[in-house]
Order: sequence, then C-alpha cells, then structure tokens
Amino acid sequence: MTEKHRGTCFCGAVEIEATGTPLEIGYCHCASCRHYSGAPLSAFFLWRTEDVRVTKGAESLGRFNKTGMSDRQHCMRCGGHVMTAHPAMGLTDVRPPVLPGVAFEPTVHLHYAEAVLPIKDGLTKLRDFPSHAGGSGETLPE
Ligand SMILES: [Zn+2]
Ligand SMILES: [Zn+2]
Repeated sequence: MTEKHRGTCFCGAVEIEATGTPLEIGYCHCASCRHYSGAPLSAFFLWRTEDVRVTKGAESLGRFNKTGMSDRQHCMRCGGHVMTAHPAMGLTDVRPPVLPGVAFEPTVHLHYAEAVLPIKDGLTKLRDFPSHAGGSGETLPE
C-alpha cells in the first residue's frame, strides 16, 4: 500500500496529504527562495504535483506567482509557507516541517552558486539544478 503523509500549515487551518515518498529532498540556496522565506536557505521535499492534495482549508491557501514559474502557496491566516508548485515541471516542493512524518534525509543542494551560507555536509552541491530537469547539472565545491 502506498504511504500517505498528512500535515498542516503553522496554525493548522490548511491540511495537506502527500502520497508515496519524495522524489528528492534537499536545500535551495537561490535568491528567490531566500528572499521569500527570509532565511539563508530553504529546504524542500519534492513531489509529483498529483501526489499532493489539500484536504482541508483550501479557502485559506493564498497563492503568489512572481515569475510565472513558481506558484508559491501559504496560509492566509498564519502566513506559514505550505508548498510551491512548478506547473511547467509537474512538480511541487513541500516545506519539510509541514510533513513531520516524512524523514528529512537531504541528498542535494540546489543553486549553490547563489549560496550565502556555505554548508559543509559532504552532500552534492549543484550550481543550479539537475540536467534531467533542464539545469546545468554542474557541481561546485563546498
Ligand atoms: Zn495556517
Ligand atoms: Zn530556490
């Protein structure tokens, strides 16, 4: 049976359910993620968009799409980030703390060329993102 994981935004108004396991777990250092989150980097669980659904509080889910690429979704009640859909790729990033039942076992750092907080954890550091997703696939030293 496929595993289902449930989670909520910071206040609990929005509930989501993700099915299966993340395709990728890691960190993004890009300027957009940093600016949006107010943090020096942001972490993600990457899922196929069809495997993540909002099960409660869809009316509280606010959306902001600055570039046409990333559909950022947050709770309008608490302001907590929930997820970011990438419609062109059919993928959705979920903020790891939103799904506490999924083990956070990161394997990769994305957009490391833009990093302001170097992380020496021995994981792969990609200049931008993987070649199979249209990136350069180039790696950078820590
Ligand atoms: Zn909330
Ligand atoms: Zn990013």
